[in-house]
Amino acid sequence: MIVTIDGPSGTGKSTVAKGVAKRLNFAFFDTGAMYRAFAWLVLREGVDSSDQTKVEALLPAFQFEIRDPKGCERRYFVQGRDVSREIRSQMISHISSQIAVYPAVRQVMVGIQRKFGADTDAVFEGRDMGTVVFTHAEVKIFLTATAAVRAARRYRELQHKFPDLSMNQADILKDIEERDKTDSMRKESPLRQAEDAILIDTSSLSVEEVIEKIIQLMPQQSFPKMRTIYRLVYLLARLYFRCFFRLRIYGLNHFRPGAAVIAANHCSFLDPPVLSISCPEEVHFLAKKSLFDVPFLGFLIRILNSHPVKRGAADSQLVHGILDLLAQDKKVILFPEGARSKNGELGPFERGLSFLVQKARCRVQPAYIHGTFDAWPRTQKMPKFKGRIAVVFGAPIEWEEETDQPGQIVLRTEAAIRALKAWFLAGARGSPP
Ligand code: C5P
Repeated sequence: MIVTIDGPSGTGKSTVAKGVAKRLNFAFFDTGAMYRAFAWLVLREGVDSSDQTKVEALLPAFQFEIRDPKGCERRYFVQGRDVSREIRSQMISHISSQIAVYPAVRQVMVGIQRKFGADTDAVFEGRDMGTVVFTHAEVKIFLTATAAVRAARRYRELQHKFPDLSMNQADILKDIEERDKTDSMRKESPLRQAEDAILIDTSSLSVEEVIEKIIQLMPQQSFPKMRTIYRLVYLLARLYFRCFFRLRIYGLNHFRPGAAVIAANHCSFLDPPVLSISCPEEVHFLAKKSLFDVPFLGFLIRILNSHPVKRGAADSQLVHGILDLLAQDKKVILFPEGARSKNGELGPFERGLSFLVQKARCRVQPAYIHGTFDAWPRTQKMPKFKGRIAVVFGAPIEWEEETDQPGQIVLRTEAAIRALKAWFLAGARGSPP
């Protein structure tokens, strides 16, 4: 999914786009930084920025790289040199606006941006993201603010970055007005609001308020409707686990419609029902045949789409059963450790998950279950009736035909579940990874 955020400088675009990306766990791209990076090369090569032919001649030499586009320590490199700080100077602001009018420059930048956006969920921030680069973006935003407010913000930002700044706020206002004019009057991709973009005036809003407004605009994922009996048991079981185990569910924003293997750690008989009722749609899971005879639990799992696994049943039968479900766009819960952990810790993963995912060509939805070991460990015949349980969903892992070697999906899933556990134990702040 692509979210575009356009608007003139000083509207808070970068901060807002970063915040939105963080909340959604999307990558974030500041496309102004790309124009700035090229402007840095123009300056370093001593080329006059008003000489279109000479500027365009530099394009083939432009080697641009972003390191860590999802993290907070995003760094920009030109010809292998870290230019992250240098590109924020006023001199570079001015040159970037000048070189951004050249069609060949825009063509190269747009190519880089589309390549970045081809296979990732991302927030792109710039001037022409919604009008030219990603015309089919699912959510388009256009930010504005009065020139005076924007100048004050930019002044604060520059003072923070360059304490020896020689400009005052009035100089910056003049510069902003000049850049606005160049950006909006240019022939090639001028700065303007896309017809289907939503306008937000940020003059009197805090960054958090703007981020919240954008999050509210995100389309709600629609999941298939639950059958009535499933929904009834689902709601009752949720109520039960909420009251007795203070069940908390995190990371539902990572849940996508369609086929997936939901892979989780496993340390208790409670894991399958707890994980099922934490999902926003009907899911399926496999359960030992003997579990169907346990009072209440047997009834619960029967309604919650559990499929009995007979002791000694042929593996191929099981695999076919799961593949059939995935082929029907259903979700299947699997516990890649194979059996319940003896001490509550995550054990080694079996390789069967990789085989299934490659056959079904589906994604893996990693999940971490917390607290079920204390509620019902292997050593106890019956569960306790109170405690604290949490389920954390992580970013889906897409199976990539070209790059995923056999077994790799298992390693990626294991790393993802460990990261979810670490995120939860560190205080469960923000969106899970
Ligand atoms: O957003 P920022 O101020 O960093 O952008 C620097 C300059 O790059 C802008 O003044 C604008 O001229 C140019 N730019 C552009 N198209 C984009 C992003 C930035 O023309 N998508």
